Amino acid sequence: MLFEKLGLVPELITTVSELGYTKATPVQKQVIPLVLNGKDVMATAQTGTGKTAAYALPILQLLSKKKTKENIKRVIRALVLVPTRELAAQVGKSIETYGKNLELKSCTVYGGVKFTPQTKKLSRGVDILVATPGRLLEHIKQDNLDLSKVEIVVFDESDRILDMGFWEEIVTLSKMIPKKRQTLLFSVEQSKSVKRFSELTDIKPVKVTINNQGDLAKKVRQTIYICDQNKKTALLSYMIGSRNWHQVLVFTKTRQSADEVGAFLEESGLKTLILHGEKAHSKRTKALRDFKDGTIRVLVATDIASRGLDIEDLPHVINYELPGDAEDYIHRIGRTGRAGNEGEAISLVCQEEKSVLKDIERLLKYALQVEFFEGFEPKVWIEKEANKHTIKAKIERSQAKRNKTANNIVGMRKKKENDRNALKKAIIKKRKKSKIKVSTQKK
Ligand code: AMP
Repeated sequence: MLFEKLGLVPELITTVSELGYTKATPVQKQVIPLVLNGKDVMATAQTGTGKTAAYALPILQLLSKKKTKENIKRVIRALVLVPTRELAAQVGKSIETYGKNLELKSCTVYGGVKFTPQTKKLSRGVDILVATPGRLLEHIKQDNLDLSKVEIVVFDESDRILDMGFWEEIVTLSKMIPKKRQTLLFSVEQSKSVKRFSELTDIKPVKVTINNQGDLAKKVRQTIYICDQNKKTALLSYMIGSRNWHQVLVFTKTRQSADEVGAFLEESGLKTLILHGEKAHSKRTKALRDFKDGTIRVLVATDIASRGLDIEDLPHVINYELPGDAEDYIHRIGRTGRAGNEGEAISLVCQEEKSVLKDIERLLKYALQVEFFEGFEPKVWIEKEANKHTIKAKIERSQAKRNKTANNIVGMRKKKENDRNALKKAIIKKRKKSKIKVSTQKK
C-alpha cells in the first residue's frame, strides 16, 4: 500500500520517498491509521518489519499538528520506552530521520554514557523522548525532565522490557504520566506478560498481529552444521575465511565464550570486535559502528545484539552456540534477511545441543536442514562411518570365503562326477571287449 493512502502529511510522504520506501510494510499499513485516529494499539511485530516507522510516522504527524509556540518552552509530549541502549540509539536515530522535514525536536537518553550532554539537550526542550527506563528515572530524580504533559507513550519491545526486569521502573514511570493518553504497545512475541502493560495502563487496545515467527524465519536460509564442540572455533574461522565473508555477526551463549571466540578469530587474522553487557558503553557503540561501516569483518556478540539491532543488508549470522532459549534463535537469525533482503543463518551444533535444536524446530514448526562441513565432521560420525566400512569389509571377506568354499564344493562334485563317468566308460569298454572275445572263440 502506498503511504499517501494512509493519511500521512506531504512532509512525511516526502521523507519516506527520500528514504526509498515505496510501499508501506504490513505493520505500517495496519498501525499508522489506528495511531492517527487516536487509538491505543497492541502490536506484535518483529524488528525488521518496519515497526519503528509504524509508530514514529503517525506520532510525528499528531505532534506537528499541534505546534509548540516559538516563545513557549517545548515539553515532552511523546515518550518511547525501549529495553536496551542499542535499541534506544537506533530508534532515536530513526525518529530524527523520519522527522527531518518537521519542526519537532527529539532526544535520546540511555545509561552507560555521561549525563551532561543529555541534560543539556533536555534543558533546551524536546517534543519526543526516547529512553531506557533506568536512565529515565535517574534524570527524573535529578529534576531534568517532566513527564506530566505526555500525550502518547510507546513501549517498544515491551516483552523484552519485562524480560530485563524493568517492571518496577515501568510501574513508577506510569504513575508520572497522565492517565489520559494514547498507549502503543509493541512486542516481538505474543506473550501473556505483555497483557500486564495494558492492565497497568487500564486500556483496551486494538490488537494487531503481523506474521508468526516461523514464517518470518523462512526468509532466511538456515543451515545446521553438526560438529564437535572443540572444533567449533577452527570451523568458524575456516568458514569465514574460505567463503570470503566480510560482514558476519557471530552469536555466543555467554560473555566468556564471546571473549574467547573473539580472541581466536582476531588471532586467526580476521578483524573482530566483541559486544556484550560487560563492555563499556563506548566500546559497545564503537564495535557496532565499526561493524556497520565495514571497518571490522566479524562482530562476536551475546544475545544483547539479538534483538532490535538493524544493520542494513547483513548477509551472514552464525550461531557459534545455540541460545538457551529457543525464541532467541529467531531473534538472532532475524538480524539477517531484513526489509525484504535474503539472508543466511548458520548454526554450529554439537552433540550436547541437540535437544535445544529440537526445541527450536518445534517453535518453527519445521525441521532444519542438517549437514556436515567437509573436514569438520564430528568424531562420533567419523567413527560410525569407519565402523560401517569395517563391517562392510568384514562382510565382503566372509562373502568371499563362502564363495570360495562353494566353488570348492562344486569343483569337488564335478571331479567326482567326472571320475564316475570315466569309471563307467572304462567298465563298458571292458565289457564290450570281453563279449567280442567270447564270440570269436565260439566260431
Ligand atoms: P524496523 O523494523 O523499524 O527496525 O525497520 C527495519 C528496516 O526496514 C529499517 O532499516 C528501515 O529503514 C526499513 N524500512 C522501514 N519501513 C520500510 C518501508 N516501508 N520500505 C522499505 N524499508 C523500510
